[in-house]
Amino acid sequence: MTRRHGDTATRGTKTKKEELRRVSASPNLRVPELRVLLWDLDGTLVRGKRFGAFKDYTVPMLEKVFGTAGSLHGLVVSGMTDLQIVEEALRPAGITREHINSRRDELLQCYMDEMKRATGNGQQILEAMPGAREVLQAVNKDPRYASALLTGNIEPAAQLKIEITGLAEFFPLPGAFGNESFDRRDLPAIAAQRINKHLGAQLQPEQFIVIGDTPNDIACARHFGARVLAVASGRVHSADELRVHEPDALLDDLLDVELAMRTLDGI
Ligand SMILES: [Mg+2]
Repeated sequence: MTRRHGDTATRGTKTKKEELRRVSASPNLRVPELRVLLWDLDGTLVRGKRFGAFKDYTVPMLEKVFGTAGSLHGLVVSGMTDLQIVEEALRPAGITREHINSRRDELLQCYMDEMKRATGNGQQILEAMPGAREVLQAVNKDPRYASALLTGNIEPAAQLKIEITGLAEFFPLPGAFGNESFDRRDLPAIAAQRINKHLGAQLQPEQFIVIGDTPNDIACARHFGARVLAVASGRVHSADELRVHEPDALLDDLLDVELAMRTLDGI
């Protein structure tokens, strides 16, 4: 788990956090050079070792809380927030958003219980995407960039995923998560508000770059006015499919660190 990366992990994050504190403590808070990278998780930084592995814990979770997993077995969920997945899956069973909201605490608790049960030490079903660690390391070293999560995962699930894949050290800024909205398009504004408060800054929407593997990632960036780098490393959407949605840049994967850095510089 995190212990594998323990010491360097703590040092890396601390250094970056101190650097960001210096930036935000400067008299001129426009921080015009800073670009905040809002990273999607599934299909971009981490993946299940087999397609649909997340259903190992989400199906029993829904069955426990609502008595049915509805249509989850057949649902393609890429780019959706966890709350949206629950709503879509349960709609055919007549379960409403209001009902889901009324059981939200129980839902989140049961989600984590089932996820921990299914993932064990995490190695069985989750891995970092090839190149993800190296690109995160490179951007973390670069003073022009700071990273945060922007994911459809509920927050504790996102934290667990970055811990078991050894990526937890790379996110010095607060992000936005799938338990905060039924619509991914709401998440960039939530993240930006949190980050501006954290830095004491007023970053503009175009200083944010959303990085993700689905049309929903592109749509949420556009809704907020952020830039967007699409990465065609997810299992559902090809590079050609993503290109139709006109991201600012498109990569096949994160394997080439220099190419990824050059691409971010050009956005
Ligand atoms: Mg994704």
